[in-house]
Amino acid sequence: MKTSALERFFHYVTIDTRSDERATTVPTTPGQLVLLRQLAAELRFLGLEDAALDEHGYVMATVPATASLSHLPAIGFIAHVDTSPEMRGDGVKPIVHEGYDGRDLVLPDDPSAVLRAAENPELATQLGNDIVTASGLTLLGADDKAGVAEIVAAAEYLIAHPEIPHGPVRLAFTPDEEIGRGADHFDVQRFGAMCAYTLDGGGRGELEFESFSADAVTVTFKGFNTHPGYAKGRMVSAIRLAADFIARLPRDEMSPETTDGYQGYLHPYQVHASVDRTSVKVLVRDFVTAALKEKEAIVERLARELVEAHPSASVELVVEESYRNMREVLEHHPRVVDHAREAIRRAGMEPIERPIRGGTDGSRLSFMGLPTPNLFAGEHNFHSRLEWVSAQDMDKAVEVIVRLCEVWGERAERTE
Ligand SMILES: [Zn+2]
Repeated sequence: MKTSALERFFHYVTIDTRSDERATTVPTTPGQLVLLRQLAAELRFLGLEDAALDEHGYVMATVPATASLSHLPAIGFIAHVDTSPEMRGDGVKPIVHEGYDGRDLVLPDDPSAVLRAAENPELATQLGNDIVTASGLTLLGADDKAGVAEIVAAAEYLIAHPEIPHGPVRLAFTPDEEIGRGADHFDVQRFGAMCAYTLDGGGRGELEFESFSADAVTVTFKGFNTHPGYAKGRMVSAIRLAADFIARLPRDEMSPETTDGYQGYLHPYQVHASVDRTSVKVLVRDFVTAALKEKEAIVERLARELVEAHPSASVELVVEESYRNMREVLEHHPRVVDHAREAIRRAGMEPIERPIRGGTDGSRLSFMGLPTPNLFAGEHNFHSRLEWVSAQDMDKAVEVIVRLCEVWGERAERTE
């Protein structure tokens, strides 16, 4: 199936849409609005008459149902327009390496930027395909402009092929995903879909419906400060308490450096230190929400044991919820994942299912009432100047969207 995804992608990546964690505006950067406005106009041009940008920087639109299926509940597709602020994203020059032959790809603007076949085993599955990279100085922005292009191309395809029966299909393009704010102003009510799919995943065939459950614990040690020249028997350094605490956290297990698959971890990742007061921020991750509590109990026990020996020291723990495993919602909506499997098979692939060792906008949207697993968009080497995507994978992702609309059109009525 040949689609317009690559051509659209080429245009989107030239717009600098890096999000900015320090900004308080919505969206955080004007470049995102440039692309969002263009997307609304493109969708209207394709015939999606209701396409519009709202005041929070979300574009929503509807592909109308085909004849006689307008009573079906809507399903949705979502992608984010921003790119990671961690890597240069201005002046992106996309390059197509046609008919990939298995060699290392040297990116022209910096010869030290080499996409090596040995370090990217998935390249071996792309022989003969057209690989798209940046030029060596910037990220590419396939995360997630590949997803954006695939959704627009799928809308175009559905409009051009009214013989494929489907219910209403809602589309949304969102800002500021890379800084964790992508779901903040998402109006689930107005979107009005019974479920949605983010197009923001990796290689061909991938389907993700499990994410971490995540909390952050801030452990603040309060010591007793006094002039160090006259501190004998009196000073209690919060820095030393925090250092001992970090040293006692599990290291040979339950750490990011020693876990993978379904294992969770404790990860001390920020320290603000003074003798009087030192706080350590610890990320807590597990696929089972109840197991977060066990990990948090370990943190609390270690911290309290340390201050017990010092009557003038104390410790305070604050737990903040970050996001929850989307599976806890999706297991109540088995068709959402089953239909995705069926669509991937109809597009000629076997679904590859693996847990996300992180969160997605879908993790939060699922708990906001919109069950949202993640589909592959063909992205590789996220947030890196070695980012790449293949044109053929993008077409496959478009095909999966089209087949999903078809599957829901066939099956929604039977089980509603
Ligand atoms: Zn992404």
